[in-house]
Amino acid sequence: MRPVSTDVAVNSTKPLRKRVAVLGSTGSIGTSTLHVAECLPERLQIVGLSAHSRIDLLLEQAHQFRPRFVCLTDPKVELDPCRLPSGCELLHGPAGIIRMVQADEVDVVVTAIVGAAGLEGTWAALEAGKTVAVANKETLVLAGALVTELAARKRCKLIPVDSEHSAIFQALAGSSLAQVERIVLTGSGGPFRTKTRTELAHVTVEEALRHPTWSMGRKITIDSATLMNKALEVIEARWLFGLQADQIDVVIHPQSIIHSFVEFCDGAVLAQLSPPDMRLPIQYALTYPERLPGPAKKLSWRDLREWTFEQPDHETFPSLQLGYEVARRGGTCGAVLNAANEAAVAGFLNGEMAFLDIPRACRAVLDHHEFDPTPTLAELAACDRWARQEVRRWISRTPRTVPTR
Ligand code: NDP
Ligand code: MG
Repeated sequence: MRPVSTDVAVNSTKPLRKRVAVLGSTGSIGTSTLHVAECLPERLQIVGLSAHSRIDLLLEQAHQFRPRFVCLTDPKVELDPCRLPSGCELLHGPAGIIRMVQADEVDVVVTAIVGAAGLEGTWAALEAGKTVAVANKETLVLAGALVTELAARKRCKLIPVDSEHSAIFQALAGSSLAQVERIVLTGSGGPFRTKTRTELAHVTVEEALRHPTWSMGRKITIDSATLMNKALEVIEARWLFGLQADQIDVVIHPQSIIHSFVEFCDGAVLAQLSPPDMRLPIQYALTYPERLPGPAKKLSWRDLREWTFEQPDHETFPSLQLGYEVARRGGTCGAVLNAANEAAVAGFLNGEMAFLDIPRACRAVLDHHEFDPTPTLAELAACDRWARQEVRRWISRTPRTVPTR
């Protein structure tokens, strides 16, 4: 990752107020971002919002923050511009996202759209030289090499929002990446940490959506249950920090207090700790390098009892190995794994696939794809389309073993 310089006016008593566009403002990360902005009105100004389908929430947000732009991306949803506050321009679709993130009024773009749909806005923001606070990890999984190369070429900052990557970013402050021996990403283990493979064959969508420590959108919650989220995070870390796959470890830490570790070449280990609350990494990404009092929950040292650590169970959760394999091979693998997983998670949520079929389908599609070590963005988009179709074919020819609810 590029060394990040300060955004704060050093000689001024009045700090800069950053102008922020939030892509995916109606989701879990989006609403947490707006809560941070609400608590830091002198430092953060919301100038753009995007939603896919939830217009009522988008309207509420538009009236509260009075942004310069709002964008609706679902072509099936209509919004009467008269319902927006005065001075707020309504934009539509991917072209609207591009116009919004490239506007002069925007300093920082928070990418909180879920899935590969987040790539276009991230790419456009970087092309326009904006700072990007990256929540949308799928963008880095599918096109990490090209996205980080573009950020370097445009001298843009890519600041992590994902809690593990933010923890690493914080622990790295002031150190050179050359001094890093390895990083250790922590994971809660999800709702099925103690289950056997036989038990996993029968889990329902409701059970998979019951995460023990984090409240998040549906797709990432299923990814956390399969441990695919950790696999995607290994790939995300590989690109964000320019590390090799064998420098990235994963440890299960069910309490979700320690958000990751950095081990340096001299044996010192630095970690970042806080309760599971995304408002802290979001705020840090937006106020970096400053730390300010904010809305995130604080640790209650009196109530703390124990922090435990376990090795991940690769037999029961084969997704994690897929992540390592893709982080090692690069090329088209990330686009294929990401799209196959998105299609498989959608299949599971629709009741078309069993829980254990998610990593099975991803493995089958990854193994059958035509590998290219140096794809273009257009070739990655083609891989994405192909992998989604392959999962649909996989679903149509695999006998249904979905548990009844
Ligand atoms: P949510 O499902 O809660 O929100 C997704 C957002 O994206 C919503 O605003 C939704 O709009 C919008 N959206 C959905 N589909 C599209 C589309 N096709 N085009 C444009 N916009 C779309 O997800 P999360 O907030 O949980 O996650 C967002 C991203 O952040 C993901 O990449 C996730 O991996 C990452 N992340 C999330 C964490 C969390 O704690 N939630 C932690 C770390 C990373 P609408 O609601 O209007 O339909
Ligand atoms: Mg995470």
